[in-house]
Amino acid sequence: MSQRIAILPETITNKIAAGEVVERPASVIKELLENSLDAGASDVSVEIAAGGRRLIRITDNGHGMSREDALLSLERHATSKIRTDSDLDGILTLGFRGEALPSIASVSRFRLATREAGSLEGTEIIVEGGRVKDVKACGMAPGTVISVEQLFFNTPARLKFLRSAETETGHVGDTVARMAVSRPEVAFRLASDDREMLRVQRSDLRRRIAQTVGKDAAAALHEVAGTEGGITVTGFISGPQSVRSTTSAMFTYINGRFVRDKVVQHAIMQAYRGVIDRGRYPILALFIELPPGEVDVNVHPTKHEVRFRRQSAVHDALQAALEGVLRRSPWLAHRQEPAPPAQAAPPTGQAYRERIAAAAQASLRFVEQPPRSSFPLASASGDGTCTTPVAAVAPPETPVSVREPAEPFQPEPASAESAGYFSALAIIGQFHGEYLLCQSGAELVIIDQHAASERVAYQRLRQQFRAGGVESQRLLFPETLELSFGEAAVVGRFREDLARIGFDLEPFGGTTVIVAALPRLATGRDGMQLVRDILAELAALGTSAAFDGAIDDLLARIACHSVVRGFHPLENRQITELLRAMDETDFAASCPHGRPVSHTITLGELEKIFKRT
Ligand code: ADP
Ligand code: MG
Repeated sequence: MSQRIAILPETITNKIAAGEVVERPASVIKELLENSLDAGASDVSVEIAAGGRRLIRITDNGHGMSREDALLSLERHATSKIRTDSDLDGILTLGFRGEALPSIASVSRFRLATREAGSLEGTEIIVEGGRVKDVKACGMAPGTVISVEQLFFNTPARLKFLRSAETETGHVGDTVARMAVSRPEVAFRLASDDREMLRVQRSDLRRRIAQTVGKDAAAALHEVAGTEGGITVTGFISGPQSVRSTTSAMFTYINGRFVRDKVVQHAIMQAYRGVIDRGRYPILALFIELPPGEVDVNVHPTKHEVRFRRQSAVHDALQAALEGVLRRSPWLAHRQEPAPPAQAAPPTGQAYRERIAAAAQASLRFVEQPPRSSFPLASASGDGTCTTPVAAVAPPETPVSVREPAEPFQPEPASAESAGYFSALAIIGQFHGEYLLCQSGAELVIIDQHAASERVAYQRLRQQFRAGGVESQRLLFPETLELSFGEAAVVGRFREDLARIGFDLEPFGGTTVIVAALPRLATGRDGMQLVRDILAELAALGTSAAFDGAIDDLLARIACHSVVRGFHPLENRQITELLRAMDETDFAASCPHGRPVSHTITLGELEKIFKRT
């Protein structure tokens, strides 16, 4: 009889735990900062050397520890933050696992110095690779100082995975910034190799965002405050003018804890749909507060992930709170408010509502006109006329997105001449092959022809979809497309849905498909890329049930592919055509990606530029 199994000594189990919690210097700093904040610190300082590899030191003015507690804090599963099983259901502190300190101490040369405010002296403990080397009294200010030197000195495999000092410093900076945004009432300082990278005094959230994300960005932030179903959402969000190409300026917190959560992310991006470009991300700091029992933070040792008890309630509350702000913000209202006509006061109340109703009626009439010729930037082959009967376009969803005509709206019988705002513009010409210059009374109207064409295409796709399906065009030479396993599975799941938006994809053995038809508006240009893009969108949806909810995104994607980009000279006839088509869209406040379509410069503004006034 042999004994093969042995309980591991704690020095090893701590090292194993460290594998989960301590990935790099930034993760050490995250854990130590959480401890400082849990200890009620109002002032925290972080110093690192060589990206944190040589040294990490965190100094706080929190409540500190007694000698007994200090020794205990280095034991595995030793915590002051929970006591009983039921406490796990209502965690209010950032930490609770009792793992960070022993883990970090097991993979570094570690020094803990701590003093409670009421005690005359502090305690200093030296640990090396998980073994306590020395415990003694020390003089220090109340609070705690933890130094971590030579991280991973005894785990060479981990050490190898560390990146350059600059990269690690970058991660540390991000970590400190996230913490700093979460607690504006706490002063933070970060120094790297004796160079100060961040120093922020106690202040409010807006100022804190300005200090960490940038003044320009913070200047254009909008406040969010909403409660729905016991879920509170507060913070600041940016409009389409300040966006980033990564999610790095999206700070989202659940009960004060920084998280990167799919549900949260999805709700945010839903709210921004049509406001910002695809592949762009807003700048925001959002705090989602919900009863602690509703969220499980004990999902992963790093606690970056959470599980919600009522996932969809959180999603909806968040989306609603953001949409509330985005809708009433200026870029979705009148982006370029036309000067009110001299004889009429700006419309208000009832008059305004009537005008919107009339405008919506007018747009109905426009789309009922006989087949139109293609708008100039569309890449569709053939004459491009719309052969599918077009359903009535829905009236604008919210009054604020309605582009107000420059003149008081006069309901008139429909005719080719009953020009809308854009058709009525006098064309001056084209600038740089990308912009249309037009005149409307005393205003210079500049139109981004790509954004405009995209908006028109998007609107047509929507009309087609509502009328029963996006118009499809069979390819003369069907193409085969090699897919990944994931993409092939998506084709299987969404085959019928894909047909509704104009794609005919036929399985051709293995993970290959034959692309037999594409949406008519998007044929002729990188069709295979479009197929891949659409499959990627669908992959994120999971089930076919979600298809209808994502239809706007999908159509926007197709519209995006339908437009010729870059320098593209147009003839006057084509410009006229585009302007006409624009009047058929819901007043073209922004392109489906949220870029503005047109910009107006008034005579007064020009005169200011030329110092005539
Ligand atoms: P957890 O934070 O999950 O409780 P840690 O290993 O991070 O586990 O810390 C263990 C305990 O040490 C904490 O519960 C806390 O009581 C104490 N502690 C750690 N850091 C500090 C600090 N900076 N100030 C005061 N107490 C601290
Ligand atoms: Mg902790």
